[in-house]
Amino acid sequence: MIPFIDLNRKENTFHNEWLKKVNSISKNSEFLEGKDINLLEENLCRFNEVDYAISCANGTDAIQLALRACGVGVRDEVIIQNNTFWATCEAVYNVGAIPIIIDIELQNASMDAKYLKNAILKFNPKAVIIAHIYGWSNSQLENIRQMCKIKKIPLIEDGAQSFGSLYQNNSIFKNSYISTTSFYPSKVLGAAGNGGCVFTNDKNLAIKVRKLSNHGRMDRYLHDAIGWNSRMDTLQAAYLNVSIKYINERIESRRKTQKIYHNQLEVPQLYSPNNYLDNADCQVCIFKNQRIRDFITEELTKEKIGFSIIYPKPVSDQIALKKLNIKSILNKNTEKLCNRILNLPLFPYITFNEVEKIVTVVNKSYRKITS
Ligand SMILES: *Cc1c(COP(=O)(O)O)cnc(C)c1O
Repeated sequence: MIPFIDLNRKENTFHNEWLKKVNSISKNSEFLEGKDINLLEENLCRFNEVDYAISCANGTDAIQLALRACGVGVRDEVIIQNNTFWATCEAVYNVGAIPIIIDIELQNASMDAKYLKNAILKFNPKAVIIAHIYGWSNSQLENIRQMCKIKKIPLIEDGAQSFGSLYQNNSIFKNSYISTTSFYPSKVLGAAGNGGCVFTNDKNLAIKVRKLSNHGRMDRYLHDAIGWNSRMDTLQAAYLNVSIKYINERIESRRKTQKIYHNQLEVPQLYSPNNYLDNADCQVCIFKNQRIRDFITEELTKEKIGFSIIYPKPVSDQIALKKLNIKSILNKNTEKLCNRILNLPLFPYITFNEVEKIVTVVNKSYRKITS
């Protein structure tokens, strides 16, 4: 049996280092605002080449904090892409705003820049959220950043899946206006529960995010904004501080695995492998049609190999939106992606033998169905 993800593969020293931290935090009752929070934010700034990192409760809150800090509020319109985790859309509603859902370029599995341009002309967006799904950067990212900058529309980059991803040889977060990530346990850098972070190089934005995440506080009992409680707790920060010591090894293990998949899978790649090998998150196959995908998933199930379909449904098809009159510019590209995509196991310290076994099963089934 090979799982889709195995969170138990950790470095030999990891567990004891974590327990030592728990011991000390517990002894000192340092549960909130402990030393580990500052240390984590410093570590995150250094690793992601950004000036400010504001830790928070989870990745969904991080998007909400970014939206609010960018001035997005009730009835404002926010452009999002149709292939993302539901939380991207939910975050827009949760700050009182309304999403405008636009379709994707299949080769990119990300927001179609032409549609973004049209949507900016047609609607009156207060912000745009691009999601770097699978840790891939959109091949039009520079163009999209420029487009938003010229129109003075804040571009929020949902990097929940792109921690450790590179764009033009730098951290993908480095040159974004404002971006977010999640430390949900199965993300590239996972917590012992949940956590999130907002990154920016803009001091004023950073101050706003910090304030919103801490009850709009000026002082202990003085509040000049309506925020909420989204502080990360010290235990999560401590776990992340231990994990981040090993992050380069973990990402290296993912990239090594990805290269094997990339070189050995006989599946024609329907996407441009632009920054593909720099992606730290997910292994992705996009097949020519659903029949091939479904056949291969059956074979994987028979062989007890884990896989996932991220995502099986476009955001615009979620039941929660059915009664809402959503604004959108859509073709069928997200549906096509959902019907053809297959995510194979890719986690730190997956073994060479495991990857070889997966490649063999996928190639054999692919040959069987296409011959
Ligand atoms: C995981 C994820 C989120 C939400 O993060 P949580 O920490 O679970 O709230 C948001 N956007 C994307 C693209 C994600 O993958």
